[in-house]
Order: sequence, then structure tokens, then C-alpha cells
Amino acid sequence: MLSDSDRVMLAQPLRLGGDARVMGAHLRQVVRLLKGDGASPCRDAVTYITGLFERSVTPHSGLACAKGCAWCCVQTVVVTAAEAFAVATEMQAREAMVATLLAQPPRHLGEPKSEWRNCSFLGAEGACSVYAARPLACHAFVSFDLKACIDFFAGDGTAEQFTPNDRQQMMYACRMMLSAAHRLTGHGDQPGYELSGAVAAILKTPDAELRWQRGEDVLKDVPQGPPVPPAFAEEIRRMAAFVAPTL
Ligand code: SF4
Repeated sequence: MLSDSDRVMLAQPLRLGGDARVMGAHLRQVVRLLKGDGASPCRDAVTYITGLFERSVTPHSGLACAKGCAWCCVQTVVVTAAEAFAVATEMQAREAMVATLLAQPPRHLGEPKSEWRNCSFLGAEGACSVYAARPLACHAFVSFDLKACIDFFAGDGTAEQFTPNDRQQMMYACRMMLSAAHRLTGHGDQPGYELSGAVAAILKTPDAELRWQRGEDVLKDVPQGPPVPPAFAEEIRRMAAFVAPTL
């Protein structure tokens, strides 16, 4: 049951460095959703946080991105556990796609550019096949400059700043909220997982999300990324501590 105060706060977008009570209300909402008993509480929580991301970022004019342009969909994608479950839910009942995913060789976070290849979820005509459930990192990665993307992803170009910085910062804020929600729902400090490996592990495990909700680490064999940087870990702890007494 939402309090009147939360109802007011939830109508507001996130602002970086803004009112902590707004962040607190949104984090409480993510926790409520993660504790839900629907078909996929993780999918519900991720839908909420990615929706919050989209209504919190400043719309940019002049973006080069368009459906069918997928130069950037070759990098590995780092996700929280909830984001991996959300994509796995989107994949359920797509038997041919699941079989293709499970047959692919594993990827690892931080792999060199020479090993980059199309994302496992990139569909026909360069469109994301799990678009509605795509992770925060994919929401955040947009570009002002098509040529810079092509030079970087398909050539020898260097990683220039062709992505709006405010979008990246908001993505980190939302990902930290998801991590804080994992902590507040008893899942401890979650590492980052490589997207396709985490989704494959989930799809191979019967009732994976239910088991994860009950405390079983169904992602224990998925390669993890480097530890969360100390400043981010501290911010996640601070967010969780701010909200914990109000749950
Ligand atoms: S999940 Fe979708 S948007 Fe993200 S890298 Fe893969 S194909 Fe691209």
C-alpha cells in the first residue's frame, strides 16, 4: 500500500543530486516490485526502473540512433541479476532463440575489442529482439555521431565521448538503485554479470527466478565482472541504509 507521500514522490523523475526523498520513494517501489508474487517480479522491477530512467533523462535532439542501426550492439553488456531475469522472461517461449543462445560460446566482461561480436539478442534487420526488456546499459547507450560509432565499433577509432554524459550518470544512479534493492531484498551485494551468460544460466535452470527469490544463487557459475568501485559500493550502501528503516 502506497503512502500519500510516496504517491507524490513517485510522480517525480529522478534528479542527480536531487531530493533524497524522491530517490527513497522510487527505491521503495522497486523493492515492493522485487518482492511481488507476479510471474516475474524482476521483470516488473526492471520495467519500473527503466521507465524511471527514460522519464528522468533530458531528451536530446540530434541523436544518430535509429532502429536497424546496431553498430554498438557488439560489446558485452553488464547487468544486475534482476536485469538478467527480465531478459530471460522476455525470451521464454521463444524456443528457437533460446536454443541458439544456449549453443553460443560464452563471453566475458572486459573481453578485448578483437573478440567483440553481435549481441546474442540482436535480431533480424539489426533490431533488438528483447527491446522491451533491454538492460539499463542499452537504454543509456545512445550516440550523437554515427561516424564516430562506426569508426570506434568497426574500425580503429578510439572511445570518444559520443554518448551524452548525463545519460550515463543517470544509468549509474538507476543501476545503483537496483543494486540497493537487491541488498534490501536479501540478495546481498550483487556483482555485475555478463548479459548473455547470465540469461543462458537462468533459462537452463527450472524455476530460476523463484529459486533466486528464495535465496538460491542460481547465477553462481556465471562469470562476474570486476568488483563494484568503492565509491559506487558506498553509495549503494547509503541508499539502502536510507530506505531500510521505512520498509
Ligand atoms: S540487449 Fe538489445 S540493445 Fe542491448 S546490446 Fe543486445 S541487441 Fe543491443
